[in-house]
Order: sequence, then C-alpha cells, then structure tokens
Amino acid sequence: MRYLIVLISCFTLFISNSEAIAQTPQMVYKTDGYWQQQADYTMEIDMDVTSFQFNGTQNIVYTNNSPNVLDNVFYHLYFNAFQPGSEMDIRTQTISDPDRRLAQNVGTKENPIYESRIAKLQADEIGYINVKSLSQNGKPLNYDVVGTVLEVKLNQPIQPGEQVNFDMTFEGQVPIQIRRSGRNNKEGVALSMSQWYPKLAEYDDEGWHAYPYIAREFYSVWGNYDVKITIDKTYVLGGTGYLQNPNEIGHGYETSEVKPSKKDKLTWHFIAPNVHDFAWAADPEYQHDTLLMNNGPTLHFLYKKTLDETYLDSWKKIQSKTVELFNYFNENVGVYPYKQYSIIQGGDGGMEYGMCTLMTGKRNFNSLLGTTAHEIAHSWFQFVLASNESKHEWMDEGFTNYIEDEALNIIKADYKENAQDKAYQRYIDYANSGLEQPLTTQADRYATNLAYSRSAYSKGAVFLKQLGYIIGEDNLGKTIKKYYNDFAFKHPKPLDVIRTAEKVSGLELDWYLIDFTQTTNTIDYAVKNISKKTVTLERIGFMPMPIDVTVTYKDGTTEDFYIPLRQMRGEKPTSATLLEDWAWVAPTYSFETSKKIASVQIDPSGLMADVNSEDNLLSIKN
Ligand SMILES: [Zn+2]
Repeated sequence: MRYLIVLISCFTLFISNSEAIAQTPQMVYKTDGYWQQQADYTMEIDMDVTSFQFNGTQNIVYTNNSPNVLDNVFYHLYFNAFQPGSEMDIRTQTISDPDRRLAQNVGTKENPIYESRIAKLQADEIGYINVKSLSQNGKPLNYDVVGTVLEVKLNQPIQPGEQVNFDMTFEGQVPIQIRRSGRNNKEGVALSMSQWYPKLAEYDDEGWHAYPYIAREFYSVWGNYDVKITIDKTYVLGGTGYLQNPNEIGHGYETSEVKPSKKDKLTWHFIAPNVHDFAWAADPEYQHDTLLMNNGPTLHFLYKKTLDETYLDSWKKIQSKTVELFNYFNENVGVYPYKQYSIIQGGDGGMEYGMCTLMTGKRNFNSLLGTTAHEIAHSWFQFVLASNESKHEWMDEGFTNYIEDEALNIIKADYKENAQDKAYQRYIDYANSGLEQPLTTQADRYATNLAYSRSAYSKGAVFLKQLGYIIGEDNLGKTIKKYYNDFAFKHPKPLDVIRTAEKVSGLELDWYLIDFTQTTNTIDYAVKNISKKTVTLERIGFMPMPIDVTVTYKDGTTEDFYIPLRQMRGEKPTSATLLEDWAWVAPTYSFETSKKIASVQIDPSGLMADVNSEDNLLSIKN
C-alpha cells in the first residue's frame, strides 16, 4: 500500500514540476495558513558625490498580514555600523580571526596584530543614517537609535490585516568602503550602495528580527520598490530595479535618442516589483554592456573602463558564461522571475542583492567566473527563496555553494564525480577539528569566522549533496525544483526543505535535519570484520545513515548492497541487493553474501560525509 501511495505522489509531483519549469512563480502574501509582511517603499534621494552625503525621503506602505497586533516596529540603519565603537567594530577587535576586509594586520604573519579599520574612521569617513522625522499615518512618532537599529514605539498599534503609512526624512553619509557597501572601494569604484537606506526589520511567525549589523547577513520584508536617485549626470548606475526613464538617462540604457540634459544632475527612476532589497552602485567610469538572453533576463555588465587589458578581457568573456549559468540554474532550480540582472564591479569581494551583484573586478577569468556563478546562484537561494540568512545561513550560502559547484562542474567541463569534493573535505576537516558548532548557530554567534564559513558554506553544501545520497540523485533534483516551486517569494525554513524531500521521496527524513543541522554528531562507519561470507559493519560516529556497500568476491566479481536505515521507513531507488534495515541503536550489523569475499567497501561514491573514511575499506589478505 505504501508503495502505491509513493507512486501516486511521484506522479502528481511530476506534473507540478513540469508546470514549475514552464511558469514563473507568483508572489502571494497570505495563503493556506502562511503569511508574510509586506512593505512597499517609495524613496527619493539626492546624492552629493563630493561629500558622499545624501538626503532622502521614504514612504513605506506596511501591511500587517500577521494575526497579531503590532505595538512597535524596528528599522535597520546599517550604515551606523561603520563608526568607531559600533558592534561591528568591537566584534572585529575581539574575534580571534577577524575578516581581513575589516581588520588590517599591523604585526607580522607569524604574530599578527589586527587593527580594526572602523576604529580609525574620521568623522567625514564614517557611515551614518540620521533619521530627521518619522510619522505613522501623518502623526509624528518617537524613536530611539540603538546602534544599527531604530526602535519605534507606535502611537497606534497596527491591527491584523491593517495597512499603515510610515513617512521618514533622513540624511546619510556613505562610509569609506570597509565591508560590502561604501565609497571609493579599493578598486576606485565611487559608490557601492547596499544596505544604504532605513529598512524595516522583518516580523514573522517567530516575532521580530531586528538583528544588529555585526557581520552577517540579512532578512527583509518582501514588497515593491519605487526609487528615485538624483546624482551628478556623469555617473553611471546599475542595481536593483527597472529603469523607468532610460531615454532621459542614456548611459547605455536608452531605447531611442537621448535628449541631453542641461542640469548638472540626473534623476534615475527605478521600479522593482516583488523584492526584499534594493542595492545600486555608481561610477563615472563604468563601461556598460548589455546582453539580452533568449527566454531570460537582460543582462547588464558594469565595470571600470580603466581596468587593465587582461581584466577587461575577463569582463567580456564572462558575458556568454553568464548566459550558460542562468540556463543551468533555470533548468535545475526554476525559472528566474525577473526581467533583468546586473553584474557590477563594486563592493569588496562578491555580494548578492536583488537582481544584481557587486563584486571586485580585478580578477583573472577563473576567479571572475567562480564569483559570478556564486553570486548569480544567490538569486535563487536567498533572494527568491528568501530564508532568514542570520538564522539559517546554510540554506543561503550552503545551497548556493552546492548549485554553483554543480553548474561549474558542467560549464567548466571538469566533470568531477563529486562536484562538491572541496566542500566535503572542508567540512570533514572542520568536524575533526573540535571547533565545529551546529548549523543552528546564529550567523553572528559563531566563535570564529572559520567556523561560520565551514558551517554555512561547506557543511551546507554537503547537506544537499548528501541528501542525494540518502534519497537518490533524481529525487534530490526533484526536491530542489519542488522547493523552488513551493517556496519562491516566501521565507522558507529548514523544515520546508526536509518536508519537500520527504514528499518527493516518500521517506522519513526528520532525523537527518536534526542530526546534521542541530547537532555536531558525525558520521563514521567502518568495516569491522570479514569472515568468509560474513560482513560485519560498525557504526562508530553517533549519526546514523543508510549504507551503500560494495563487496568484491574472490572470483573478481562485485555486488552492491544497500542497508536501509530503519527510521527512514523505506529506501532510495537502487539496483543494489536490498538487505534488512539497520536500527541506529545497534552499533554493529552483519550480513551474509553468496560467495567468498575479497574486500568490502562502504559507500564507494564518497557521498556520505564519513569523517574517517580510512576504515571504510577492508580487504582479506591472500
Ligand atoms: Zn554567498
């Protein structure tokens, strides 16, 4: 009976998957017991490109889709992090392995002494957002600025289903580029404008998430953006949103002849529907190339004309590769839902934003390709599948790492058997180091930057690849597509991923989510003993797994076996000889073969992240 149910559910899934491939997912704020808040922004700012100061107005139409009454709201004022004494500064000064973009080593390589760059900022170099006024439905509000968070007590609580207007005036200063955003980055890009505006914190079924800006990362409210940026007319912009007045602006955006403006400044008008962030960058020396994809977005490439010839060459060569990357992600995750994507030289490495990325541009081709693949992949994992990056960093960085490496394995024609081999090695080294913290650790709360990156990037990628080992590669592919189809434009959580895999595979998988993400239990199996035709395996690590085993017989033939894990209540599709299931409580497990054994190998695929694989192979002498 169970098998019949599995068959039927696979069939329905197949239909819904084909629909998902053909259609763009739609935005829904409230459905079937799920709700998310909505914040529609209208903003205008005027930028002074000599003082790097700007004035702004902001209207947010905020819709409380929650069933709860809200007595307060919170805004992020991210630029305030770039001030001496900020939480970001103190963390940089006290963590043992500070981010080298935030701290410079004034000691030696052997005896490093790190100095926080934020601590050295002068008044005209810091970042800030000063809120000058704030009102709710026209009535002034009181507020407190607490570091990077604006705490607002409402005069009038917001009722479930109610829509209110928040109007703000503010002034800001763009900091010297330290981390992600800022002015005059090390490659001379004038303005990298991310996390630049007062931004409402997200409220969800777990309450408010007014995280201070310490390092990482973001979680924001879905909505529509209407943004006008007034800036010196020589500056070329790129970023989130569709330009509404291309023929007033020109700079490569025009669709017909541009009337030259007599004013010193131009006002760029952007509309961005269904996003949870708005970023942009500007420089007077940007080269602006565009490429219209077949069945895909218009791609924009903005990079400094003054780059060396070899870098310029990389920026040309990356353009057709970007098309290949979009095609890969469209096919293997789901259709990119926006009409535009921009790859922009800026920032301090690579960072993902709505419809765009800012990345440093002085890179050889391979480095530019790797970063481009990673940042574009974030359009799926984190932008459209907008998980809480502070709380579930592995769903963002890990899944991105996974799909990036799978795509590059094909696009670079590496065709490695395991595209995630580096992620496995990094995770296994980390698990064996004694420094591991569980994936449930809040992103800023890892003891070291190393622990964060190994957890979020490496173990997160292994989570998905290894899920393929558990449920089968085909089922993993279907799981990823269904996950995108069901959770695009929402805030998916870890349980959503594993429930999707359960629905696709018909297997029980909560144990995998719990052990691999909520604990630091490790996987370590061994071939304990071979006696003529009997194999005995041992579970040494505390985390259980279903086991693939290949037996080589004395006559030179081989046979694959599969030992289901009892708590999965089933097995992945396999052509291997199916054995009795193994309950995790039993430390050892024995089975009989039909012929005399020469050697036994646990998991020849290497897709199970066994932290000590040396004991996975045992051969009989003579
Ligand atoms: Zn990333």
